[in-house]
Amino acid sequence: MVYRSLHKQFERARPGDVGIIGDPIAHTLSPVMQNAAFKVWRQSLMSRRGASPRYHAFRVIPEQLDEALALARRFKLRGLNVTIPHKVSACRVVDHLHPFAKRVGAINTITFGPTGAQGFNTDGVGFQAALRNDLGFDAAGKTALVLGAGGTGRVIVEKLLELKAGKIYWWNRSMERDRGPWEEESGVIIPLAGSIDRDIPKALKEADLVVNATSVGLSAGDGLPHPELKFYFGQAVFDVIYHRDTVFMKTAKAAGARVCGGLGMLLYQGVESFRLWTGTDAPVEVMRHALQEALSRD
Ligand code: NAP
Repeated sequence: MVYRSLHKQFERARPGDVGIIGDPIAHTLSPVMQNAAFKVWRQSLMSRRGASPRYHAFRVIPEQLDEALALARRFKLRGLNVTIPHKVSACRVVDHLHPFAKRVGAINTITFGPTGAQGFNTDGVGFQAALRNDLGFDAAGKTALVLGAGGTGRVIVEKLLELKAGKIYWWNRSMERDRGPWEEESGVIIPLAGSIDRDIPKALKEADLVVNATSVGLSAGDGLPHPELKFYFGQAVFDVIYHRDTVFMKTAKAAGARVCGGLGMLLYQGVESFRLWTGTDAPVEVMRHALQEALSRD
């Protein structure tokens, strides 16, 4: 993407439009999904005149975050999505944080309204909806193994706690990764770390649900996030990666596990963001179709 000054990028926006801020931003699928949704939404509002809101991709580097928020307000945007590298730092530039976003310390959605800018994290809702709709899995009282304690791992662990999971084994490759307030959740969370953790086989055997929340699988040549992963027949297995069938997913399928990738999570986080911006339900199937079509072109 050719870089344009921030002001020039925002100049293209009309009042009521939406956008995503991040860097890199060229490959995000959100514009395709949200523009399809806004088009249908506009058509459904028969009594109102004017064009559909448009969803823009704004390339914003860390030093420009405050300026980007100021421009979004100045050009009267309805809201924003927030992606890498701003999910954590954007918490300090909004006026209010939704409690879930506050707990995970990261936002992916902003709404602008009379009470100011509100920050939300819809990845948690996205994971919850995908777990229910794509895997038919109810986490209440169940045991989960979550791999990865980065931003997405935190969202998933917090959501599983909210859904009253009985036990959560939480593994991360490096020992140093800070697990924030969740260190204190003794009794439910069992932290694991490193490549030779002896508890991994036990956790895998016990787990009703195994989640890959690491970035392993993003690249085509990636293998498993942990060398000793072994899956069981009937186990529910979720991968946050949505670009391809990963080695994690293929290995789990071969063992007879019920498997789903991260496309549903991506879809439903967008569905929830759309609801927050418009106050109406999103056209889910239109958004799913737009995503699938964009991925098939990649
Ligand atoms: P992040 O904060 O940078 O965390 C990355 C995590 O991956 C860390 O736990 C890191 O462990 C681990 N990791 C990286 N390389 C590894 C390796 N070779 N072996 C084992 N663990 C490794 O990233 P994030 O924001 O959580 O994103 C993680 C993934 O989730 C990305 O691929 C992103 O695209 C995906 N995602 C999907 C959705 C969706 O809607 N489907 C939504 C959000 C994110 P260390 O601490 O040891 O480095």
